[in-house]
Amino acid sequence: MKLVILGAGESGVGTAILGKQKGYNVFVSDKGIIAKKYKKVLLNNNISFEEGNHTEVKIFDADLVMKSPGIPDSVNVVRALREKGILVISEIEFAAKFTNGVIVGITGSNGKTTTTMLVNNILKKAKLNVSMGGNIGNSFAQQVAEKDSAFHVLELSSFQLDGIEDFAPHIAIITNITPDHLDRYDYQFENYINSKFRITKNQTEDDFLIYDADDEVILDWLKRNKVKATLVPFSLKKEVEKGVYLKEDTIIIKYKIEDTIMKTSNLALKGKHNTKNAMAAAMAASILKVRKDLIRESLEDFEGAEHRLEKVLTINGVDYINDSKATNVNATFYALDSMQSPTLWIVGGVDKGNDYLDLMPLVREKVKAIICLGVDNRKIVETFYNVVDLIVETAGAEEAVKVAYKIAEKGDNVLLSPACASFDLFENYEDRGNKFKQAVREL
Ligand code: ADP
Repeated sequence: MKLVILGAGESGVGTAILGKQKGYNVFVSDKGIIAKKYKKVLLNNNISFEEGNHTEVKIFDADLVMKSPGIPDSVNVVRALREKGILVISEIEFAAKFTNGVIVGITGSNGKTTTTMLVNNILKKAKLNVSMGGNIGNSFAQQVAEKDSAFHVLELSSFQLDGIEDFAPHIAIITNITPDHLDRYDYQFENYINSKFRITKNQTEDDFLIYDADDEVILDWLKRNKVKATLVPFSLKKEVEKGVYLKEDTIIIKYKIEDTIMKTSNLALKGKHNTKNAMAAAMAASILKVRKDLIRESLEDFEGAEHRLEKVLTINGVDYINDSKATNVNATFYALDSMQSPTLWIVGGVDKGNDYLDLMPLVREKVKAIICLGVDNRKIVETFYNVVDLIVETAGAEEAVKVAYKIAEKGDNVLLSPACASFDLFENYEDRGNKFKQAVREL
């Protein structure tokens, strides 16, 4: 069997290793330049590859093609493959064929990484043989090739789900759905929603779909479509029949029996959004029969992920918080929502078609100054100049932090939660978060 892999990043190289191990004749093709670390792996494993070009005769000779998630369906080579009737799948689809492990798959617009880490943490605490991967850390394929665990906790992006045929997690979680990446979905929100729900398309009656029952987009889709898996909602707002909900400030799982898990004030991660993530993770663990005291302990000790509402330092009574991963309005909504004192908000970057109006009530209530951190800040200034007294434009993390330091008073928060992508001034959100943290440490 000839396996051609398009793209030599994390998922491409992982698939190449697994494919080779399983006896495929593997060829990797990347139109760009392959990063050094991946090239090394390909060379060490004697896997043939090309870079800077897609040699069509070799690619069209494939029996099966794995397309990396970063490559859109619209590129010529992918279209041509489909026209020729050659199956094009994602790494997730490929890797799942080679594991008997139980899969917990987590998707959504925001909260995937956090929820994935929470589930992994709980299962580890329960001493289960678990690996975490997918859109976070190592690829799923590499995970399966190296050590096929009893449980795989996978963060799944919509692009990864687009390339599945038979993939079916035993437990699927959809954290929420808000518009994102619409450039890859013909600017149709519905296409993006359908893509997220692919996570459940091959599930059976023995499987579970955990979802946010406060999310209108999810509820609306579920009304219009049939799902075979058992539906397990979580809600901050209402008691559910079977699922997770809040009784005052206590998380309750109502499943076969009713179980009190813990008070939200004891959760390690703060903010309503993180309460939701914790509820989803607790539900998944509970379905996998983890004891509730272990679930509780794990949610109490969890150390948050970097760049997600990450507390950096307190200087002169001012808390500096790095939420660089907030690359859309919804993520920033929850960041502002969780601020307990007056906030200097650092915002801006590459706007993906943002509608800031959702933030208006929170900005009125909590934000005392806006520090713009982007090349083009017009939209932010136009939206908020009537609402916030002080708006300053800056063009670098260091400058933004210095301005914040000058304005901040004891008891304030300085929050980097950009609601935008970072590519105008930074390499990526990690680079933006790291530069922010460095600037804070140098104050
Ligand atoms: P993802 O992997 O889906 O991008 P992360 O866990 O990395 O999600 O979080 C991304 C951003 O969204 C962070 O700014 C985080 O604070 C915020 N966030 C986390 N969970 C949620 C949620 N359930 N709803 C909305 N925003 C969230």
